[in-house]
Amino acid sequence: MKKCTRRNLFKLAGAGSLALLLPTLARMSDGMALADERLDPESPQAKALGYVHHYDEVDPERWPRYAPGQICANCQLAQGDLEADWMGCSIFPGKKVAHDGWCNAWVERRG
Ligand code: SF4
Repeated sequence: MKKCTRRNLFKLAGAGSLALLLPTLARMSDGMALADERLDPESPQAKALGYVHHYDEVDPERWPRYAPGQICANCQLAQGDLEADWMGCSIFPGKKVAHDGWCNAWVERRG
C-alpha cells in the first residue's frame, strides 16, 4: 500500500475532480456542437412536421397548410438573424433551419 502523504492526497483529489468534471465538459461540448448543427430533414422530428430546406420541396397535397410565401425567415418561431442562410427555430432547439425552409408549424411573423 502507498504511503499516505499530502502529495498523494492532492494527486488523488485532482484525479477525482477531473473524473467528476469530464461528463459535464463532454455534455457542454455536445451542446455547443448541436447549436451549429443543421436540421436533418430526414430526422424523425423534422419528418413529422414536413420540414424541408427549401419551400419548393413542399408537397402541398401532403401539407395543405403550406401557402406560397411561407418560409422559415418569416415564421414567428424562427430565432436569431433572419437575414442569415441558417437560423435557430424554437421547434427544433439546438438545430439550424434554412432561411427558405418550411415546416407545418409555420406561423406568420408579427412585427
Ligand atoms: S417552425 Fe417556422 S422557423 Fe421553424 S422550421 Fe418550421 S417554418 Fe421554419
